[in-house]
Amino acid sequence: MANDMKHAPNSAAEIARLLTELLGHPEVASHVAGDAMAGDGELLELTDPATGRVMAEFRDAGAEVVNAAADAAQEAQRIWAAKTASERGRIMFEIARQIRAHAEPLSRLESVSAGRPIRDTGGEPARMAEMFEYYAGWCDKITGDVIPVPSSHLNYTRHEPIGVVAQITPWNAPLFTCCWQVAPAIAAGNAVMLKPSELTPLSSLVVAALCERAGAPKGLVNVIAGRGASAGQKMIDHPATGLVVFVGSAQGGAAVAAAAARRMIPSILELGGKSANIVFEDADLDRAIVGAQAAIFAACGQSCVAGSRLLVQRSIHDQLLEKLAEASARIPVGLPLDTATQIGPVNNARQWDKINDMVHQAQAAGARIVTGGACPEHLRDSGGYFYAPTILGGVSQDMVIAQEEVFGPVLSVIPFEDEEEAVALANATPFGLAGAVWTRDVGRAHRMADRVRAGTFWINSYKTINVMSPFGGFGQSGYGRSSGREALAAYTTTKSVWVETAAEPVIAFGYAPG
Ligand code: NAD
Repeated sequence: MANDMKHAPNSAAEIARLLTELLGHPEVASHVAGDAMAGDGELLELTDPATGRVMAEFRDAGAEVVNAAADAAQEAQRIWAAKTASERGRIMFEIARQIRAHAEPLSRLESVSAGRPIRDTGGEPARMAEMFEYYAGWCDKITGDVIPVPSSHLNYTRHEPIGVVAQITPWNAPLFTCCWQVAPAIAAGNAVMLKPSELTPLSSLVVAALCERAGAPKGLVNVIAGRGASAGQKMIDHPATGLVVFVGSAQGGAAVAAAAARRMIPSILELGGKSANIVFEDADLDRAIVGAQAAIFAACGQSCVAGSRLLVQRSIHDQLLEKLAEASARIPVGLPLDTATQIGPVNNARQWDKINDMVHQAQAAGARIVTGGACPEHLRDSGGYFYAPTILGGVSQDMVIAQEEVFGPVLSVIPFEDEEEAVALANATPFGLAGAVWTRDVGRAHRMADRVRAGTFWINSYKTINVMSPFGGFGQSGYGRSSGREALAAYTTTKSVWVETAAEPVIAFGYAPG
């Protein structure tokens, strides 16, 4: 299991090499109207999560970059909208092809810069390409209705692009969240200003460049490299922005929604969760254990849908906890580029501290660390932000650890007696992003799907999502839906057109002709 730290790559050189291969230059800067554009703000550092060493630096984008991106986006949107729907679709298919053609360096860039295991990022470009293919197919199918109004009018609807969309994404899955939001936005005819997390801007810069290589007008997809409170706010405040899509924490989402409301523009919020993964005594326990591990430990727990609360029926609680703890202690934790690694480092030092603090505060509140609770022994000298898969027993639903998102590899296990109590516990947080049930009772499975308040619910499964299926949250997990047909509705606005068809004038008011 141990990874040999002597083989840790020089990530600064690797990042420069990958950027040169993918972008044609090694600089980290915003991507505006097809070119790199340096910011003039604070100097920001990109740190290698696996070693804690600085890999690259860039300046926060200021007003000049955001204004240039907004101008470029408006110009490109006019060019984009003037193309036929079929042409837009063909270009989007070509974007998908470009992503597939650059899959290897793109997945490597994502692993090195975000600390995500190559085992996870290796297949990701293919899934990102599918997102563009799916929405490419929609380009010429965005149609309106003819409404049978009770007058002599022809009334029809048009689903028009909003214009320029501001998108803000987090650090946990930068490539995924970029493609997830860019694809429906441009399929609906919009241009984009996307601000990835200041911790992980690189793969989004590449996506923007590949869009242009595929034939999209320069400026259709602009990427702003900078911080939320500075560059992000400037994007929302820019008069060209007609919609804000935010993927991130509940706290950030509240600030973004308030800023959008001040400008009276709509927002879509894809926020965090505290999802319940519920195991009944009649479940296939081996499958439930694998599901519980994948739910919380994949992506090092840095997943919005992480099943961070495992609710277990009391009759099987002790047995399941013991098996799960034993299996979890054996999950390979290691370097992102090691193909054996299943859990890579936490993305950044601040997040590592937050995870560790929450675990030890839970312990102080009465929870028991069954396994984990620290950096794994073999990685202590790495300088990286590794955290062992951690399981907490003796957790009650009123503890902070069961109420708030940790966003790390930390599972709280909570017993329940019956279906009624499982539903009450599952719904006892302000969030509502995801949930799951493990049972062989079909009726119970559907009753749980009906009663658990969550935007996504799995039965005898966890974590499967697809661009074809709508995704989003209830409560503090956000509002609006991404993916599927519903995302297109979010990225368009509806116009109702009335055409008088009567041979004789029917408006009798004021001036009388003849
Ligand atoms: P975060 O809210 O700190 O930052 C997310 C993004 O918002 C970053 O680009 C950041 O720079 C920007 N930002 C922050 N405050 C801002 C402000 N006031 N104005 C404008 N922009 C601002 O979140 P994070 O720590 O980067 O990511 C982790 C969070 O993201 C977790 O809560 C996770 O659950 C959530 N997430 C949700 C989904 C989803 O689809 N629901 C997907 C992935 C991650």
